[in-house]
Amino acid sequence: MKRTVLITGSSRGIGRATAKKFAIEGYNVIINYYKSKDKAYSLLEEVLSFGANAIVVQGDVSDRKQVEEMFKKSYEKFGNIDVLVNNAGIADMTLFTDVTKEQWQRMFDVNVNGMFNCCQCVLPKMISEKSGRIINIASIWGLVGASCEVHYSATKGAIISFTKALAKELGPSNILVNAIAPGAVDTDMIGGVSEEIREVLKEETPLGVIAKPEEIADVVYLLSTEETKLITGQVINPSGGFVIV
Ligand code: NAP
Repeated sequence: MKRTVLITGSSRGIGRATAKKFAIEGYNVIINYYKSKDKAYSLLEEVLSFGANAIVVQGDVSDRKQVEEMFKKSYEKFGNIDVLVNNAGIADMTLFTDVTKEQWQRMFDVNVNGMFNCCQCVLPKMISEKSGRIINIASIWGLVGASCEVHYSATKGAIISFTKALAKELGPSNILVNAIAPGAVDTDMIGGVSEEIREVLKEETPLGVIAKPEEIADVVYLLSTEETKLITGQVINPSGGFVIV
């Protein structure tokens, strides 16, 4: 039977590239979007053209009811979810002293509570199957912190400790849980960054590059393969050496 992946926030950026990678590798693909409907459906067309089975499901990951509905539709269509990629995320740059309670709350609602909602919805079936992979997209800022991104860094740090703890709890059920902590990746998320800052980022990266979303997608896919079946509770850091811990 074909394996199935659900990727949250796959209308754009890293999630979109990840959906394409899994489709090329023969997976059924569940594409989730929040606001970018046209982009999600253009991805669906692309993925179908690779010969993959796929569906699009709209939903805000921070909303438990919408997430439950998304999983219901996904199980109705494919019967199983082998890999969950918690990718949906938001970021913004604000001085900590200017961060509003609403900004702080929304950052945690999407980046952390979204992952919590999706994991709780996927796990009953994964546990009964004694099989599954969960891959959470963190960030290097969750490892080392970023100035003017305290709220973002805090959510990414939470994703990392969540990943480690859940990996311990789910190991006996043969479910692997890992996080990926990219450095700068060329998506809309860093679209507001000036050319000057991009050059600084490159200079400070030993490999001298800003990652392409496809390069992160390759690492996500790797964590779903048989070859990585002993890797759990780890934070894989494809940042070109920007952060070495
Ligand atoms: P992006 O291009 O801004 O795309 C974000 C994706 O998340 C979009 O598909 C968006 O969907 C979705 N999304 C946002 N809020 C959502 C919600 N409430 N419910 C469901 N989906 C939602 O960002 P990206 O760069 O690909 O980032 C993807 C992940 O990688 C994020 O977790 C981010 O923190 C992490 N990351 C990015 C970088 C970087 O430099 N780009 C570095 C490290 C980590 P819609 O457009 O449909 O609303």
